[in-house]
Amino acid sequence: MTKRVVLIGHPVAHSLSGAMQQAAFDELGIEARYELWDRPPIELADAVTELREDEFLGANVTIPHKERVVPLVDRLTDEAHATGAVNTLTREGHKLVGHNTDVEGFKVALDKLVGRQKMPRLAVVLGSGGGARAVVYGLIREGFQRVVVFNRHLHRAEGMVKHFNRSAAHMELRAMPWHESIIEAELAKTKVLVNATSIGLDGDESPLPAEILPPDLLVLDLLYARTRLLRDAAAAGCTVSDGETMLLHQGAAAFTLWTGQPAPLETMGAALAEARAHGVRSAEGEPTGSPADEVPMAETASSGEGTPSKSGSSEAAPSEASASGTPAAGGAGAEPSSS
Ligand code: NDP
Repeated sequence: MTKRVVLIGHPVAHSLSGAMQQAAFDELGIEARYELWDRPPIELADAVTELREDEFLGANVTIPHKERVVPLVDRLTDEAHATGAVNTLTREGHKLVGHNTDVEGFKVALDKLVGRQKMPRLAVVLGSGGGARAVVYGLIREGFQRVVVFNRHLHRAEGMVKHFNRSAAHMELRAMPWHESIIEAELAKTKVLVNATSIGLDGDESPLPAEILPPDLLVLDLLYARTRLLRDAAAAGCTVSDGETMLLHQGAAAFTLWTGQPAPLETMGAALAEARAHGVRSAEGEPTGSPADEVPMAETASSGEGTPSKSGSSEAAPSEASASGTPAAGGAGAEPSSS
């Protein structure tokens, strides 16, 4: 019987995860089909109940359900428990286990962004949703000493900080109100900036004005695209990276959880690049900025492998696809976003 794996989100149309995971199943001869389930929050519980049947290997969970799904599963792994967010489900009999492979994906992405530099200790995070929880937990685990979180709705950032109270007891984790002057002051003191908001998903918008970006930041945008933020940051002289590495590695970890087999990373990276080249939107959307405006992503100068951008600044960690020898997407509309 062909097994089923689903992506539950809202929206999920034309998912990049679909292309990546189906290519991996096919490569390893696993009889499984990856399906996209667009389910608004009100239908989430019923969708999760359906997954308990034998035909399902498991699922991915994406925007906006990563936190809502937590009380719907029977068991959480340590990382899902620690973050309070779930992006992958597996089945144990008719019971469901919630995992968070975004944490692993973020770690690989952060390591790549930092390159050969010493791991920094100060970070600013924008956003407080499911993705931000994986980021903040990853930074705590990495040994960061000060992490400041800004979110449109301050109470949500405060809730997240409270959630991490115990795991962050040894360091300074703070929620601050979203005021440009406060963000600017924090950016002047920090080394790493992570955008974990969905700003840039539906339009060519940046969460921050270009003028407040200092030149020597390491900037990671979880969106799988050359967002305005990344273009502005690269132009300011920052090292930048998009969400591709995180997407690939969270997906690879999920694949292994469902199948018990090592993920064919090269195949998955190539499938992502191809989907991107054909303008496939991610489950979480795709910014609508004109490709003509966009600065090509390159490798981090800090890794010693970099290529200069148009602006001459160092920018962008290499994509896993290009790192593994598959062509980087370059076609029209080839700028989708994450998972
Ligand atoms: P959530 O829906 O859980 O959170 C969305 C976040 O974006 C919240 O902090 C929200 O703020 C903020 N936000 C949304 N719209 C606006 C706006 N107009 N102005 C200010 N803030 C806004 O989503 P996720 O955390 O799951 O995902 C967030 C982003 O991260 C998505 O774009 C997703 O693509 C990306 N992502 C990428 C991954 C990858 O593998 N590359 C993995 C995980 C996420 P508020 O709380 O105030 O509403």
